[in-house]
Amino acid sequence: MKCPFCRDLDNKVIDSRLSKDGDIIRRRRECLRCERRFTTYERVEEVLPMIVKKDGRREVYERLKITSGLKKACEKRPVSMEMIEQTADRIERMLQERGEKEVTSSVIGEAIMKALFDLDKVAYVRFASVYRSFEDVNEFMRELKDLLQSSREADDPKRASRGKNKGKSSARNA
Ligand SMILES: [Zn+2]
Repeated sequence: MKCPFCRDLDNKVIDSRLSKDGDIIRRRRECLRCERRFTTYERVEEVLPMIVKKDGRREVYERLKITSGLKKACEKRPVSMEMIEQTADRIERMLQERGEKEVTSSVIGEAIMKALFDLDKVAYVRFASVYRSFEDVNEFMRELKDLLQSSREADDPKRASRGKNKGKSSARNA
């Protein structure tokens, strides 16, 4: 993207906005050389970054990979296809707004995990356990315990605090 004033190629994105129909992205840029600002309009399919895999290979971005990852994690869970599509939309938009030519696959993995955490806790743990391929079982159990704890506390804060001390002492006596 050349600066229209000095033709320099280096600039930074200071604002990104998606058009109402979601197919044009409008970017405010600032030239790093002359510091003047200009606006670019890019078609959405042109601005999706290449995905850099762990071994350094580059792959063309594919939305299908995100939706199939989400679907797999949400199998037999109360998550509608619409929710999955909306989640994929959000992840895609995040990728576009970064305005980078390449992103690592871990950026996408983390985004999916974050989205699943809000969507469905079981789906989250499923995905996280595969994605992070937990170092050991203990780490996985810790994650799971924290998760159950926090969701139980959210359901009923009284029960959660009551259960903590009582449970321990009676277990020791028995
Ligand atoms: Zn310039």
